[in-house]
Amino acid sequence: MDKYKHLRELMVETQILERGIRDKRVIEVMKKLPRHLFVPENIIDDAYDDRALPIGHGQTISQPYIVALMTELIELKGDEKVLEIGTGSGYQSAILAELAREVHTVERVLQLAEESRKRFERLGYKNIKVYIRDGTEGVPEEAPFDRIIITAATPEIPPPLVEQLKEGGIVVAPVGERYSQYMLKAIKKGNELERYYLIPVAFVPLIGKYGWKDES
Ligand code: SAH
Repeated sequence: MDKYKHLRELMVETQILERGIRDKRVIEVMKKLPRHLFVPENIIDDAYDDRALPIGHGQTISQPYIVALMTELIELKGDEKVLEIGTGSGYQSAILAELAREVHTVERVLQLAEESRKRFERLGYKNIKVYIRDGTEGVPEEAPFDRIIITAATPEIPPPLVEQLKEGGIVVAPVGERYSQYMLKAIKKGNELERYYLIPVAFVPLIGKYGWKDES
């Protein structure tokens, strides 16, 4: 009698499959991963709702469908070294950790980073490393990466991240204005990005050297 398991199956059925996500590994991991353990205690029963939820510090855990879409778009086979910018709750990081070899995730809000670290430890993830810094500068000491995912809105893919992406590697990010963006999938070809703009989205802003200014 796992109430959350039931809610999770419904989530996958009505939000993920219904909207056309087809990658079997993505679907399996979303069926399995306890999203309710990544949201604040007082909204635990909303964890499987079809929307983003507040996680404190003005930040959000992305809508389940958006997590599934971004994960499908970066095409993980299992052996990748992945860089994530915007750890937040750590939910997306955990999904990545299930589907890739190693995950390097960067968060600028100290408390969110520390809470996520604790979650990863509790849930037994040994292949996630959390960094507290401005993710727009990436993690040069661990580059190059096979895949990069930015889970905050950015005006452009920050140049250091393009540099830290392998040739042929994929980056997925919400790119556009501070309050409205398009989901971008881009493939590195030489020093250029081959770009595919997908659906309109609204993410919290990426704050940093190659993002926006902190207005809080
Ligand atoms: N992937 C997250 C979504 C978090 S929302 C999840 O699954 O919950 C975006 C996060 O990006 C926020 O936690 C915010 O603090 C963080 N962020 C914003 N600018 C950043 C930057 N320059 N470097 C690292 N993290 C940043």
